Amino acid sequence: MRSLKTKIFLFFVLLLLLVQSIALWTLVKGNDAQEQQEISNRLNTAKTIFTEQFNSRRDYLAAFSETAAKDYGIKDVFEGDTRSLLFALNNHRKRIDADLAMAISADNIISAQLQVIQVNNNKTKVQKGSELGKIFKHTEWLESQEKAHLYFLDGILYQLSLSPLTVGSSTIGWLAFGFEINQELANHFLEITHLQVDFILKQDDEWLLVASSNPTADVNFAKTIVEGKTPEQYIGIGELITEFDNQPFGLAMYALRADIVEVLQKQWWQFLILAFITLLLSLASAYLIASSITKPIKRLVKQARMIAQGDYQQKIDLTDNGELGQLANEFNVMQQAVLAREKEITHRASHDPLTELPNRNILMKYLNQLIIEKSCFQLFHLNLSRLKDVNETLGHDVGDWLIQRTAERLSKISTFDLLCHLGGDEFILIIKKQDQHSIPELVNKINNSLENHCDYGGINLQLQVRIGISSFPEHSNVDKTLLQMADTALQSARKSNANYLCYDKSLDVNSVERLNLINDLKSAISDNQLELHYQPKLDLKTNIVTHAEALVRWYHPTLGMVPPDNFIHIAEQTGQINKLTQWVVSTALKQSAIWRSDGIDLNIAINISAEDLKEADFYDFIRNAITTNNVPENKVTLEVTESAVVDNPEEAIKLLQRFKDAGIKISIDDYGTGYSSLAQLKQLPVHELKIDKSFVQHLHEDEDDRIIVRSTIELAHNMGLSVVSEGIEDDFSLRWLAEHDCELGQGYYISRPKPTKDFTTWVKEQLSSKAEKG
Ligand code: C2E
Ligand code: CA
Ligand code: CA
Repeated sequence: MRSLKTKIFLFFVLLLLLVQSIALWTLVKGNDAQEQQEISNRLNTAKTIFTEQFNSRRDYLAAFSETAAKDYGIKDVFEGDTRSLLFALNNHRKRIDADLAMAISADNIISAQLQVIQVNNNKTKVQKGSELGKIFKHTEWLESQEKAHLYFLDGILYQLSLSPLTVGSSTIGWLAFGFEINQELANHFLEITHLQVDFILKQDDEWLLVASSNPTADVNFAKTIVEGKTPEQYIGIGELITEFDNQPFGLAMYALRADIVEVLQKQWWQFLILAFITLLLSLASAYLIASSITKPIKRLVKQARMIAQGDYQQKIDLTDNGELGQLANEFNVMQQAVLAREKEITHRASHDPLTELPNRNILMKYLNQLIIEKSCFQLFHLNLSRLKDVNETLGHDVGDWLIQRTAERLSKISTFDLLCHLGGDEFILIIKKQDQHSIPELVNKINNSLENHCDYGGINLQLQVRIGISSFPEHSNVDKTLLQMADTALQSARKSNANYLCYDKSLDVNSVERLNLINDLKSAISDNQLELHYQPKLDLKTNIVTHAEALVRWYHPTLGMVPPDNFIHIAEQTGQINKLTQWVVSTALKQSAIWRSDGIDLNIAINISAEDLKEADFYDFIRNAITTNNVPENKVTLEVTESAVVDNPEEAIKLLQRFKDAGIKISIDDYGTGYSSLAQLKQLPVHELKIDKSFVQHLHEDEDDRIIVRSTIELAHNMGLSVVSEGIEDDFSLRWLAEHDCELGQGYYISRPKPTKDFTTWVKEQLSSKAEKG
């Protein structure tokens, strides 16, 4: 119902039905009047035809009888013997096949009379008339000039014409010729008018049926018609034609009304059938028109659907030159425009407008693909340094220009599998790890490609990047997380002013795990979740345990043991480190006092964070704790990382100096991992350097490490500092360090950090076995 085709078709159908109904209605309405009109027309026409023909027969007879009367042959025999006259008269009669011929003498005697008589079926014969030799009945006709008459003879009615026969100025007699008014004549009119014809004559007050086309004709019926009283079921017209013997002659023409109506009804039916056929034809053509209109539209609709589905290849070919053809053309044009725009949009959606490099969309797809394929890769997050400065000082045009140059140069490094521009000063490079390149080598390639300065209108600009790197699958198998990790590494590189940095868990400051820990840490101390483990430091000359480092552990209610590397940073960054340090100091000193009372004399080492050094009453707190627990000052070591001191040198140095003055030992932890120079170290009021485990763990295999450690020991000794090496994991390191005059050693090879009870047992055994040996 809803299709255009159906609508157009229905429209046509309704229109046709309307038109046909109006036509039909008009017809029905006009039908009665028409029928009436038809009937009266028919009757009038019939009457006219009859009158015309009847009169022309009369005129014909008149003309002929006049001509015959001029014939000398007739005149010659007119007053002679009857036989010759009859003969001559018959000759004339034959010329017009008259049914009656008469000669009337001057004394009104019928001197010759010939009558054509119907014998039997179509045969006729000519015989002498019965009035031969008798007086002519209508002598008054002879005097008058009237020529045409009706003549009744022996039951037969004739149309008659009289002509005087003159010789000189005297009339010697009359000639008369007549045509019979008979069934033949009636049939003739029936044929022409389709109306029955009755001829009636009034004789002695009696109506007589003279002739009729109707075999069942009735004189009374004919009379009512002539009188104009046609019965309802008939149509008819009648007339009194002329007077004859003072008796009227009537003509009745009629037919059954039903016959006429039948004809009309036949026409009516014909019309209905014709109308029906026309309707069918019109409907068929309406259907065809509707189809032909909607066919191209349907194609357009189909086309539109295909476009909607993203198929732009199909073109519509419409041979139509009209509006639909134009529409199809516009459609094709539109399709191309949409295609072009879609291409443009797709390109825009996946490329950075400034550099035309793939953007984040492509990057995410690519990362996803690699992760699904499980192909290992490294993700380099590049940040163009100092772009902000350039934008601010030289304007954004120069900044943009610089970004474009960077993009160009980075595109030229073919080693990487994908280069993306995330916008602004951020680029991403991806390399699959089956290409065996080391990270420093790759970083070098990047730096080399950007090495040459750029010239912008005489200004020399330097392209420099900082890089954060993450790897799949080592760091994560989630694309976004990998990006975040590279970004974290990048931020850390910026903070530490490094050219590049690989992601490491310790860099992460925003993981969910971390956020939970921040929360939980608040209650860790009050809920008694912290515990101290102790790890011995061995005097490498005497092989006696002389020190113990306190290392904090967090027994989290759900996570279990959380290592300090995972929460010390948090404590520092969330301002909880002071409380934590206070707890550690108190606990460690209490334990130290217990050991002391138990005969175990150890120097207790406590890790101090940079934040602690900033605390105003930190010094007083330590001093109080030491006094409270009655621990000798020189049996306490504070381990401080070099960066903690270097960040805030003046204050830190003052504070450390006060500790040193109080006899408390200061150790520089993780020595070698920071950036401080020995010159800076020289000013620090410390007693010992603690060489970081990363240099010690591989002593047996790494020549470089051995050189570093040896020279560090020498330098420390030169500066009057003693040396502790942590991370001793094998016998070789232990011996090698002892040989190279390292004072103290710490490491898993000697002992792992142990809970208080285990450590106490262990240390007692050590001391007693030493005592036995000693
Ligand atoms: P750190 O001060 O350098 O402590 C030494 C770390 O090296 C300890 O890790 C120890 O278990 C580990 N270690 C000792 N010997 C070996 C060895 O032979 N091989 C290896 N691979 N590792 C060895 P731990 O206990 O996980 O502590 C990590 C860090 O947490 C410490 O590094 C320290 O910076 C911090 N920390 C621990 N306890 C405290 C504390 O009470 N206060 C503060 N501020 N920091 C603490
Ligand atoms: Ca330490
Ligand atoms: Ca250390």
